[in-house]
Amino acid sequence: MRATLMYGAGDVRVENVPDSVIKQPTDALVRVTSSCICGSDLHPYHSMSRDSGPARMGHEFIGIVEDTGSEVSTVRKGDLVVAPFAISCGTCVFCREGLYTSCLHGGFWDNEPLEGGQAEAVRVPFADGTLVKLNVAEDSVLMPSLLTLSDVFGTGYHAAVQGGVNERTSVSVIGDGAVGLLAVLSAKRLGAEQIILMGRHPARTDLGREFGATDVVAERGEEGITKVRELTGGHGTHVVLEAVGHMPAYEQAFGIVRPGGTISRVGVPQYEDAPIGFGSLFGGNITLTGGPAPVRAYIEELMPDILNGTIEPGKVFDTTTDLDGVPEGYQAMDERKSLKVLIRP
Ligand SMILES: [Zn+2]
Ligand SMILES: [Zn+2]
Repeated sequence: MRATLMYGAGDVRVENVPDSVIKQPTDALVRVTSSCICGSDLHPYHSMSRDSGPARMGHEFIGIVEDTGSEVSTVRKGDLVVAPFAISCGTCVFCREGLYTSCLHGGFWDNEPLEGGQAEAVRVPFADGTLVKLNVAEDSVLMPSLLTLSDVFGTGYHAAVQGGVNERTSVSVIGDGAVGLLAVLSAKRLGAEQIILMGRHPARTDLGREFGATDVVAERGEEGITKVRELTGGHGTHVVLEAVGHMPAYEQAFGIVRPGGTISRVGVPQYEDAPIGFGSLFGGNITLTGGPAPVRAYIEELMPDILNGTIEPGKVFDTTTDLDGVPEGYQAMDERKSLKVLIRP
């Protein structure tokens, strides 16, 4: 079968690899029908050393169950399923609390070196705890939106939930990538009245307005902080959703959060050390939260609004390709020519 491999920074190839097969009684074998490239795939695309490659890529996919191990009971051959970006057993103490990303037995797709979603097929461990059945046809026009449940929509929603967004909060969103835009949609869904989107790519911020942003701030750094403060009576917003992961975005976040407010981060931090002292968090009684989103916990909650057409998170996909086009897809996303690339293997 064919699959995407990253050999090192900037070097993505589609090659023949051994077929994925069932190995454990709790596995399912899924033939991938839709997959995509994630903003977080761009981090290794920038920095991965050749010594750690080649790595199988992709952690967001929808597909048809082709086979199941003897202990799998919730999905069967022929089912259309969506896979979250984390594997979870569904039964351990953290899964029962809904914190699927801390599952004691599962993990991230990176920990499965022979599997990846940007491929023709995937062996899915803990199929009962990981996969969610989709009751739509394989060729449904809803597929791009349903695919966002595997990561970017659930991640944007997690940011808003962790940040405590409700109808009494004002919200800033830092980042106009797919997660940032879907954090806007999520803040809108949770009732926020003012949603300020910080981003400077007009095609993206236009979609952000469609998703519910009331204001767009293109400026960054001190200028951006001043703009947000002007829009909020000088105080900043109750909640800041940070969907980038780089230090300047974090600095932006504590610059625009209101005293007593919350910074919720879902952009994977590319730093370990960051300010938390009097001038950043402590002085204003600021709460810092966020982390990898347990998207498995949100799929059933978010799916009905997609199925009934209330929301269309799949609008974040602006490019579609087959497997052969995946290397160019990475390049297009890296150069900001594509917002998010949908793959139909
Ligand atoms: Zn992702
Ligand atoms: Zn678990």
